Amino acid sequence: ATTVIDGEAVAADVRADVTTHVETLEDAGVTPGLATVLMSDDPASETYVSMKQRDCEEVGIESVHVEIDADAPADELYDAIDDLNDRDDVHGILVQLPVPDHVDKRSVLRRIDPEKDVDGFHPENVGRLVAGDARFKPCTPHGVQKLLAAYDVETEGADAVVVGRSDIVGKPMANLLIQKSPTGNATTTVCHSRTEDLAGKLAEADVVVAAAGIPEFVDGSMLKDGATVIDVGINRVDADTEKGYELVGDVEYESARGVAGAITPVPGGVGPMTRAMLLYNTVKAAGLQYDVDVNLD
Ligand code: NAD
Repeated sequence: ATTVIDGEAVAADVRADVTTHVETLEDAGVTPGLATVLMSDDPASETYVSMKQRDCEEVGIESVHVEIDADAPADELYDAIDDLNDRDDVHGILVQLPVPDHVDKRSVLRRIDPEKDVDGFHPENVGRLVAGDARFKPCTPHGVQKLLAAYDVETEGADAVVVGRSDIVGKPMANLLIQKSPTGNATTTVCHSRTEDLAGKLAEADVVVAAAGIPEFVDGSMLKDGATVIDVGINRVDADTEKGYELVGDVEYESARGVAGAITPVPGGVGPMTRAMLLYNTVKAAGLQYDVDVNLD
């Protein structure tokens, strides 16, 4: 029978761990704080930010929110980041992406104090991850790594295929999978929009991480029998529901479930893990800044 990987349950475990670490920090006189910065009118971005604030509240992390007009000059965002970098009560800073076109994303990511960069997108943190000395692992690939570990999915020596090469999912995911570590050691292929024979690559894969942002484009016929299938995709498709849409992954769930050994559903798979790992990175940041041992990897 196919195992349905329960991201909600694993995320609840991570949150319970985080709550314990928040208490350790409180005992040392530190209340961990996360700042979210929003420079966008996009309703999806607004929703993401408010979910992150709610998540913080639930585990005892203080949240601070800064909103910048979407048409304000970029300097306003830089100044806001500088202020947050200087604040003692803010240990993690997250600028909700995407930022408007007139703002240079790279400059934004470089502006954040790398010790407060809980998304792990600052070049210093990207470099550390690649070098096998990660400080903050990006939340989505980190969450996938935790899911694989929670379900004892063997990555060592496995053939893994990551579909997608974005800076926030595909690239760091591939990097984690090739690390010389018990949760890595996979022979990893990264596929992307110019890949010639995706089906051929998938047919060999013991572990598939789908992150292309294309609704249901990996189906059961492309998968190896017994493969572990991690569906990162979150795609809105028109549907006859109250909201007029529904969320589907990058994997065609029903056909894939018939072939896979284990599979994540959408929703309820990777999404909750991404949210939980942000909390994890925030307590880790506070611990690092105050030299409090919160015992996180
Ligand atoms: P992105 O658009 O930045 O990257 C998509 C990648 O897919 C690109 O690298 C591209 O080369 C590749 N690609 C495009 N067409 C392809 C094809 N035909 N074959 C193979 N590869 C192809 O997207 P992203 O930010 O990496 O996100 C990917 C998906 O994951 C989206 O659906 C996004 O909403 C979702 N996402 C989910 C979470 C979560 O918490 N579950 C977090 C981040 C992103």
